[in-house]
Order: sequence, then C-alpha cells, then structure tokens
Amino acid sequence: MHERLAIHGGPKVKDTPFGSGSRFGLAEAQELLEALQQNTLFYHTGSKVKQFLSDFNALYGVKYSVAASSGTAAIHVALGAAGITVGDEVITSPITDQGTLVGILYQNAIPVFADLDPHTYNMDPASIEERITDRTKAILVVHLAGNACDMDAIMAIAVKYKLKVIEDCAQSYLTRYKGRLAGTIGDYGCFSTNDFKHISTGDGGIVTVNSGQQSDYYRTHAFADKNYMRFGGDVIRDLHYVAPNYRMTELQGAVGIAQLKKLAWICDARQRYGDLVTEGISGLQGIAPHHVQAGNACTYWFYMFRIDEDVLNCSREEFSYALAEEGIANTAGYIPDVVYMQPLFQQRQAYLNSGFPFELSDVSYERGLCPSAERILQTAIRIGINEFYTEEDIKDIVRGIRKVAEYYKK
Ligand SMILES: *Cc1c(COP(=O)(O)O)cnc(C)c1O
Repeated sequence: MHERLAIHGGPKVKDTPFGSGSRFGLAEAQELLEALQQNTLFYHTGSKVKQFLSDFNALYGVKYSVAASSGTAAIHVALGAAGITVGDEVITSPITDQGTLVGILYQNAIPVFADLDPHTYNMDPASIEERITDRTKAILVVHLAGNACDMDAIMAIAVKYKLKVIEDCAQSYLTRYKGRLAGTIGDYGCFSTNDFKHISTGDGGIVTVNSGQQSDYYRTHAFADKNYMRFGGDVIRDLHYVAPNYRMTELQGAVGIAQLKKLAWICDARQRYGDLVTEGISGLQGIAPHHVQAGNACTYWFYMFRIDEDVLNCSREEFSYALAEEGIANTAGYIPDVVYMQPLFQQRQAYLNSGFPFELSDVSYERGLCPSAERILQTAIRIGINEFYTEEDIKDIVRGIRKVAEYYKK
C-alpha cells in the first residue's frame, strides 16, 4: 500500500515551515558605518574593498584578485584581461545565467556551446574538445549550482590547444575539485555577490588572477576601472584600449567583509544538506540524484534531481506538482530552455541595428545542438537548499521525494 498523496487528499509530508534566518546583522551595519566614516566611498581611497579582497585572497589562497560591480562584470573583466577579442570563439555551457554570455558578446567574441554531463549538469570535456576550431581562444567553464566541473580533463584540453580557462564560480563558493578550490584552477575565477548568491553585497563581483603575475594583475585591475592604472605613486590614465568602469564601492566592500566571515558556515551547511538529500534518494527507481564526482565538495546553490519518465507513471510536471502539494516547494527545471534558444542567438543579433559579431561566424545555434543539456531541462526538478534549513527540513524533503516517487513507480 502506498501512502496517500496530498493531491489525493492524504496528509502532507511537510506541515511545518522551513527554517529561515537573517543574512545581514550588526556586523554588516558596523562595517557600513565605518565605511561612511571614512568620508569617501571610493575603493581606491577607502579601505573596505581592499580589506574585502585581502580577506578573500587569504580564504582562497591566491595572491591577486580584483573587485567588480557584478558577476557579469567580473566575467567580462576576465575575458578582457585574457585578451579575448573580435571573432574569437569562447566555449561555454548552455545551462547558465545569461551573465556568463554578456562579456563574450561585449568583446565581440562568439559563444560556442558544449554539451553537458547528464548528471552533474556540467560541461563534458569530450564535447568541449569536439567544438574546438582554429578560432577558439578560451573555455569559460560554469561550475553549476556549487558543483565542480571535470577540471583535470578541461585543463589538459586547454594546454593541448593553448586556450585560456575562465571559471564562472557565481554559484560555486568554496566548491572543491579534488581538494582544490574552484576559481583557483583556471587562469581567472569569477564570483558574484548579487543578492541571490551564497553571500550578498546587493550586487558585486570578484575576479581572481591565478597566474600570480603582477603584470596580469595590473591589466585585470585596469580593465575594471576604465583602464586607469592606480599602482605605485601616480595614476596613469593613458588610454591604450577600451575598458569599462566596473568598480565596486566601499559600501559593497564593507558588507562583503562581514559576509565573507559567514561563508564557511553557509557552505558547510549547504554541502551537508545537499549530500543528505542525495543519500536519502539514492537507489530510488526513476530518480537520478544531483551527481557530485567522488573526491569533490559541492556547496549546492540549489539541488536538482532528474526523473525518468520511462520508469515513473507521471510527467515531470505532475511529479513537481505532487511534490509541491506535499509541502516541498520546487521548480520544474531551472532556466526554461538552453541559452542558445534565446532570441539573441536565434536571430543572430546581439546589438540594436547590427549583426556584429555573428556576421563574422558560421557557428549555428539550432535545436538539438546540445541534446543532453536540453534533456536535463526537460526532466529536472529543482529544490532550494538553504543554510537556515534544519536537519528536519532535509528529512522532510527526502520523505516527500520518496513518497511521490514510490506512488508513481510503474
Ligand atoms: C549569477 C550568475 C552570474 C551573473 O552574476 P551577476 O552578479 O548577477 O551579474 C553569472 N553566471 C552564473 C552562473 C550566475 O549564476
């Protein structure tokens, strides 16, 4: 006998609220007050952004990083500093935030999409290698949802074809690949502190400069600051190339200092909770858990499992609805479709009144380009993971998924 589902009038699995809490407190307020008392909110004359970056560098074990106004900006800065330019091809993921793509197009480079592993939802190295042409200049990996990409294989491809590697870590704070921190393995690691990420400064971003070379650091830094060189004594304003103003303000830096102190706790809780969900639903017929490669640490920005419609007697939408009615909030899928189905790619128009840069390229963006990625978005169910949840909440999530899966088992 099955337990009666809530959609059929049975008792809900979850009838208590999920744990919640305040992300910001007196520590942030104190830092903000100090920032204001400096009588300047400019990063170069104040101390808060500098402190934020030096704390971040210590946490990540890197020598240099640069602050930016958003994660999107951080990625653009990395691409600019890497010298990515007109007509270059950049291989990236079709399941990501559109912020991953904006910098590529602003450099007038061409996004090329590699297919994904069906269970980690990260770029498949074999597909990356297949997409390489003589115009390929960089691989922009996206560590989706706190889960590390297969970096050994990707770095080997980058060495073989002399490509830059930029890591989009917007969803992956303190994510580990075989013990190493995501964001420290490629040439640059890009982070976002927008309000939806593990930590928030309202908006903001960070770029790590992993070569550890001062000249690389200076170039990266200048690319986020209108190409001003603010090192040593005088400011050098020689404008040798175009660079945007993506500066972080002291207010964001101040909040960031306090937020960074909470990061380890936030990531530990999310890692534990996500792994507990996997433990609880592993072996269930018709359910494929969010896969993390052995030896890695995932800090789950969200948890996403897949259902197998050949094994279950329901559609993904029916499963999602039944689970929601059990009191387990969830979303059917993540982004509605792979990013190359966006009008920008379908119409090959990135700018108003211009076909540039697509007119330089014969790269195409047709349906079926990345079949595994498309299937992921059609069969996945996403559940929020939050550091304020309790162990009881996680047990309820597991009970809910098990109850619905067992009911619909053929
Ligand atoms: C959030 C996010 C970005 C963009 O960050 P913003 O700070 O919103 O500009 C880029 N890539 C991924 C994978 C993201 O999740």
